[in-house]
Amino acid sequence: MLSIDNLTFRYNTHDGNVLNGVNLQLEDGQIGILLGKNGSGKTTLFQSILGIRKPQKGAICFDGEDLLKLSRKERARRVAYVPQDIQFGALTVFDSVLLGRVSYFGMKSSSEDYKAVETILREMHLESLAQRNVEELSGGERQKIAIARAMAQAPRLMVFDEPTGNLDIANEQLIMEEAKKLSREKGISILCSLHDLNQALSFGDRFFFLKDGIVRYAGGQEIITPEVIRDIFDIDVRLVVFDGETYIIGGKPNER
Ligand code: ADP
Repeated sequence: MLSIDNLTFRYNTHDGNVLNGVNLQLEDGQIGILLGKNGSGKTTLFQSILGIRKPQKGAICFDGEDLLKLSRKERARRVAYVPQDIQFGALTVFDSVLLGRVSYFGMKSSSEDYKAVETILREMHLESLAQRNVEELSGGERQKIAIARAMAQAPRLMVFDEPTGNLDIANEQLIMEEAKKLSREKGISILCSLHDLNQALSFGDRFFFLKDGIVRYAGGQEIITPEVIRDIFDIDVRLVVFDGETYIIGGKPNER
């Protein structure tokens, strides 16, 4: 279980807190969606979980261990990151995914690492791309490789920062389904920021709305109401149920 308690972060001593006592709990195998306006602190929160930023106060625990106190290598075996647009450099797909094993092999990869990569490529139906240069692939394919590389870390938690930001609709759907499948099959928790509210609804188990440096609303789908969306994004929407699924329509700026 991921448990973030009273997390406080500011970039400069003369600036205000970007995170001002964030609390967030996510069960194993659940998909949590982080929502909030641009500048609300989503990336800062992710970077704190990944150890890139050092919060001034608070704790980030995963399965009872304080992530902030682990070494980089130890943290990499527990938490993997899938950024919006990954820069791999001129590597083959196989080597790009193998890089995810670095926290296990240190200086030199072993046959076990190779086997782990082969298994992931097979499971994600990427074997035919194994020897291709990753820079020659499409955005959707590259994003799949980014997930494969994160999987190679054998993490318990994956952090996705706007993973579909640069993809077309078909690829967006594909990537999110792939991530959901992996999370369900392997019990991996995912914390993901998304800006598309309907995508969030179809993908998430839990929702966390960030505003003014805190998680202002947290819960299941039932917490997503026009009032909450107005408070967070300043837009007016309606919820409609079609074929048993809830959709958000509208999005007119609120004229209050
Ligand atoms: P989001 O991911 O929700 O768009 P960010 O975490 O990127 O939000 O930013 C939160 C706030 O922190 C913003 O006001 C942003 O200007 C500020 N910020 C982000 N990165 C830095 C930085 N490196 N130095 C100073 N302020 C920053």
